[in-house]
Amino acid sequence: MKTLLLFPFQLNSIYITKLGVEFENIKVFDHQSFYTRYKYHKKRIALHRSALLHFVEEYKHYPITHLWIEDLEDFYQTYNNDDTYMYYPNDRDDMLFIKPLSNVHFYDDPLFLVNRDAWQSLLTKKPWKMDTIYRQLRMKYDILMDSGKPVGGKYSFDGDNRKPYKKGLSFHPTISFELDTISKDVIHWTNTLFKDHPGEVTTMDYPVSRTQALEALDYFIHYRLATFGDHQDVMMKHDPFMSHSLLSTSLNLGLLTPMEVIKKAEKAYHDKLANIEPVEGFIRQILGWREYIRGVYFMTPNYHDKNALDHHLKLPDFYWTGNTELNCLSHTIQETISNSYNHHIQRLMILSNYANLIGVEPKELNNWFNTMYVDAFDWVVTPNVMGMGLYADGGQMSTKPYISGASYIKKMSNYCDGCKYDPNLKTGEKACPFNSLYWDFIDTHKDNLTNNPRMSMMLNLHHKMDKALKTSYKEQAKKHIESI
Ligand SMILES: Cc1cc2nc3c(=O)[nH]c(=O)nc-3n(C[C@H](O)[C@H](O)[C@H](O)COP(=O)(O)OP(=O)(O)OC[C@H]3O[C@@H](n4cnc5c(N)ncnc54)[C@H](O)[C@@H]3O)c2cc1C
Ligand code: SF4
Repeated sequence: MKTLLLFPFQLNSIYITKLGVEFENIKVFDHQSFYTRYKYHKKRIALHRSALLHFVEEYKHYPITHLWIEDLEDFYQTYNNDDTYMYYPNDRDDMLFIKPLSNVHFYDDPLFLVNRDAWQSLLTKKPWKMDTIYRQLRMKYDILMDSGKPVGGKYSFDGDNRKPYKKGLSFHPTISFELDTISKDVIHWTNTLFKDHPGEVTTMDYPVSRTQALEALDYFIHYRLATFGDHQDVMMKHDPFMSHSLLSTSLNLGLLTPMEVIKKAEKAYHDKLANIEPVEGFIRQILGWREYIRGVYFMTPNYHDKNALDHHLKLPDFYWTGNTELNCLSHTIQETISNSYNHHIQRLMILSNYANLIGVEPKELNNWFNTMYVDAFDWVVTPNVMGMGLYADGGQMSTKPYISGASYIKKMSNYCDGCKYDPNLKTGEKACPFNSLYWDFIDTHKDNLTNNPRMSMMLNLHHKMDKALKTSYKEQAKKHIESI
């Protein structure tokens, strides 16, 4: 009796049809550890569980059931034979989970555009570059190409997508969904079993089924894609989502395939629903960044232990509460707690930036990101945090640390309005801590960064800086860190 075992994030009918095998039995398996590996945010638990149950319901014309594993030994004994078929997961812990299933047929995940094994030959010379992979994939899959040339004359319109914050910016609202019986029961289940996990769950803010995911995709393409690019790096108080797609959960759970999302965005350009800048920018995130990040994960054993900058500070408690006088952090973390989501630039330039500047142990921040986000899976969290966010891998995937003082945050957001601190002041009681922390970071790591051409301007500025000023930055930074 041929059995297909699906992980609870392989929620797409492609997994059922791809192999051309007639399965008598399809089991989406589920285990306590999938909800407790980290002390996950309640919204993540509820969404993942609800998506699994909806998948079983939506595809009940197949012989499909939900398999809750009570006894792991029994599970391994029952399924470790050559009648069982599976697809490889990405996360290391999931690979360990299936290790005892040595007699099972395993296949590559069909929902990614680059095969697992191909990364060995794609990522060779360091630092690895997303751009190179992205161009190759644009050509291979003929996306936004015109007679072998990129549409619009260049592969990337990144430079056009970095406009600063301006007063009066507003965006089309996000789509919302009614709760059905499955989701109501799941919310109750979550609140009963995982009471002491972070956050609250009373609603489902992200799609729980393929039907909802397709609806969310169409809604985004029609109403929000056109404004995706321009202010992609902006952050705004009281608008946690801006023009971001909120499709990461649907992609990571398998409810949508990356290619269908990319094709719909490309079609929107041809149908004149959106210009090339936002369309290319959006496609680059999925075809470029998402695939690349997965490749970097596969190519980096011991990623969790990297600590190239030798940072050892404990993560500040306020990452769990939002209780801090630094306005940018307090707004961002309150949104993390409420929504189990932040958009990319908050994750990078507020949460990771600050943690890096004060010298948080990379593992601590990585655990926090794995815990708090509705779209978190280790394969996507770890390269983004350790590599992009913290430079803990010594620059294998980022050409420089993504750090900044207050001027960047002031330019790109409205967080500084009403903050206790002044972004323009460098030292003194009212000075924004990001400023002294930034120069203290440069001073501490100058030897490490000296051969990095992208840091040379800041290193030169630091080199020419008055010695007394350097000392006062150091003292001010130390005082701030001691006060956390
Ligand atoms: C420190 C840090 C932690 C992150 N943690 C996660 C995570 O747990 N899960 C996750 O899916 N993404 C993560 N990202 C990447 C990115 O921030 C999220 O994918 C994005 O914010 C999700 O929101 P969205 O769907 O509205 O994205 P949009 O801004 O609408 O982008 C569209 C899609 O592009 C893809 N994408 C964009 N950037 C990246 C990237 N750097 N890596 C992988 N995919 C990308 C996502 O699938 C996303 O849905 C992280 C980034 C950083 C810097
Ligand atoms: S002044 Fe500094 S701490 Fe306050 S919001 Fe601006 S950058 Fe953040």
